[in-house]
Amino acid sequence: MSSKLKVHEATIRPSLVAELQAFQAPGQRVSSYYLDLSREKNVEAARAAVKKTLAFERERLEQLDLRPALRQALRQDWEEVQELALATVGRREVRSLACFVASSAGYGRVLPLPSTVRDRAFFEDRFILWPLEQILNQADRFAVCLTDKDDARLFLVHLQRIEEFTSFRDEIPGRVRFPDPVKQWHYANKHIEYFHRHFEHVAEETLRLLQREPFEHLIIGGLWEHLPEFEGHLHRYLRDRIVARWDIDVHTPVPEILQRALQEEQKLLEHQAQSIWKNIQEHRTTRGALGPEETFAALWQRRVQALLIEPHVSCQGFRCRSCGRLHLSSGPCIECGEKMMEVSNVYDEAVHDAIEQSALVRQWNAGTLNEVDSIAALKRF
Ligand SMILES: [Zn+2]
Repeated sequence: MSSKLKVHEATIRPSLVAELQAFQAPGQRVSSYYLDLSREKNVEAARAAVKKTLAFERERLEQLDLRPALRQALRQDWEEVQELALATVGRREVRSLACFVASSAGYGRVLPLPSTVRDRAFFEDRFILWPLEQILNQADRFAVCLTDKDDARLFLVHLQRIEEFTSFRDEIPGRVRFPDPVKQWHYANKHIEYFHRHFEHVAEETLRLLQREPFEHLIIGGLWEHLPEFEGHLHRYLRDRIVARWDIDVHTPVPEILQRALQEEQKLLEHQAQSIWKNIQEHRTTRGALGPEETFAALWQRRVQALLIEPHVSCQGFRCRSCGRLHLSSGPCIECGEKMMEVSNVYDEAVHDAIEQSALVRQWNAGTLNEVDSIAALKRF
């Protein structure tokens, strides 16, 4: 059987989330799967882990009290999800998948995510989106607007992906020289008027993008000497969002634009991480948690506002079977005394816990964080 599902390659636009939200199947069941594809380092082991997770979910759906037709639809969803998930394991930029499938209605969206997720599945009469929304809330959206005197291109950048929203050209009369100075003056004015009209058009399209697909940050780029004029045409909502101005050719290839946008994002993330760290230091006794044990305690109390973690850090650990508290060492839980179960990466678990309490999670590669065993948190109160 060949699967109809495909991995969504564009950005996850707010309008796509709205489409998923609007999807309803009264009296039916549809499938929402969240699958971590990167829990293991080598591809074969990762594939085996995904198979195991899906086998568990298959077992669960077989146990549901359902009419045969509904169960058959969920089985079909499961088959399609398994085929695509196994084929996707090992793709470098895809750490996990969020799958929304209603094969009986011929509907399916599979969203690749660059961060780790907690494995889950839901079989309801609508898609379950809160885990997706929590992940989307972790990363700001950027728009990139490039313009010269007649061309323009608009992009969305989110979760390490780029998508061209629109591109257009406004006809500007070519440069002509008139021997008559008055004619020449009129002509030059006309020419300036044309490219101001073009800038106005670009500014309008950018505002339309903001209204249709809201974004937090704007990067503008083009011929350096014309950027201030262009900026003058932008609505205040847009000017307030500008985080960078680029001297760049409008026709720069898309991968290069993405690389530059990701560098801007990295600067912003670094700045945010530094400011969280500064807050932790300034409020060390009341709101700071340094190192795994203090951070796990703060997570257990559901008090984490922001979590800092070193990238790629991994360590086996434990989670209490009863109250869910994370621990580095085994033995009875220090909060409730109950037994614990092993988790393969306690740092990933901490990230999932933090995301679920709506904390801001920032990866931060810094010596100071390394000194406190790669993790720290700022508490809410
Ligand atoms: Zn416990």
